[in-house]
Amino acid sequence: MSDRYPAMPPRDPNPPYKRIATEEAWLPPDMMEMYLKELADQNIDDPGFHSLWGFFTGSTQKAKDHSRRIQSLGEERISDMDASGIDIAVVSLTAPGVQLFDPETASALAISANDQLAEGMARYPDRYVGLAAFSPLDPANAAKELERGVDKLGLRGGIFNSHTLGTYLDDERYWEIFEAAEALDVPIYLHPQTPSAQMIEPFLKRGLDAAVYGFACETGLHALRLMAAGLFDRFPKLQIVLGHCGEALPYWLYRIDFMHGHISVSARYEHVGPLKRRAWDYLIDNFHYTSSGVGWGPPIKFCQEVIGADRMMYAMDYPWQFVPEEVGALDAMDIGDGAKKAFFEDNARRLFRIE
Ligand code: MN
Repeated sequence: MSDRYPAMPPRDPNPPYKRIATEEAWLPPDMMEMYLKELADQNIDDPGFHSLWGFFTGSTQKAKDHSRRIQSLGEERISDMDASGIDIAVVSLTAPGVQLFDPETASALAISANDQLAEGMARYPDRYVGLAAFSPLDPANAAKELERGVDKLGLRGGIFNSHTLGTYLDDERYWEIFEAAEALDVPIYLHPQTPSAQMIEPFLKRGLDAAVYGFACETGLHALRLMAAGLFDRFPKLQIVLGHCGEALPYWLYRIDFMHGHISVSARYEHVGPLKRRAWDYLIDNFHYTSSGVGWGPPIKFCQEVIGADRMMYAMDYPWQFVPEEVGALDAMDIGDGAKKAFFEDNARRLFRIE
């Protein structure tokens, strides 16, 4: 192994901060049943779903452990958090969540998932907070469910798992959801899923479709589509959360800003026009970022430098990437005490209103 490979020192047993993990995945057992049924029936054209969940519902020990962990809102999840030094988990419906099913079925499933998540939070009020699921292609009901989730169930924002069978939310017909989020003053997590049937083909042959790379390409694309459509001109206070160090968008920030600045005023594309602000401004002022799946200091420090230490948060991405040792690597980052506390604790408390 290269001597440049990052070290994983033991974690700080008594850090001057709480650790809040902000992108922790969960799947209710009734939805797992529906996934298993779809895997057997093969009714839905989503090769990414069948590849990912076909493996993770299989007979390997890795799949069995994952399947059990992702459905837990009880003691197993708590004991894994204890083993990782994580004090609080922001739990949300895993990919693709309800976004595999027709809009009406998806809306009913989101209601059931949110109720179950709220029950889990009630059992462990000091350990879990949750985000509301909704059915993106049923925008009126999605907005209503987000409101119910926040106002009635105490959820702290919403989550959607990127495209829904190839549909992106930059189309204005779906913006009721974002209008509701802005009015409620809660963030929306834009979480990855596998690329759509139209996009996945060149990724599949070499196994690059899922978290290794395909997630980031697909989710970064979705975020940029929202930006280029003028979503943040319409809802200037809206906050979108991106995981995985921003799906690499912070690294691309200069070039995205430079090129989009030219393209948006060029009249070259029918559906692209000038915006009120620069790509740079939206990708900082309308976004928060998390470190999910990145147990490595340099890109986190880079995000803090370019996006701001007040917008970069910790996440583990349990149980998809359950590596307790990574926490030690991030405890050991050579950044100031204030920036480290902001990363692990303060930013999440502020954005998700964790007291
Ligand atoms: Mn995740």
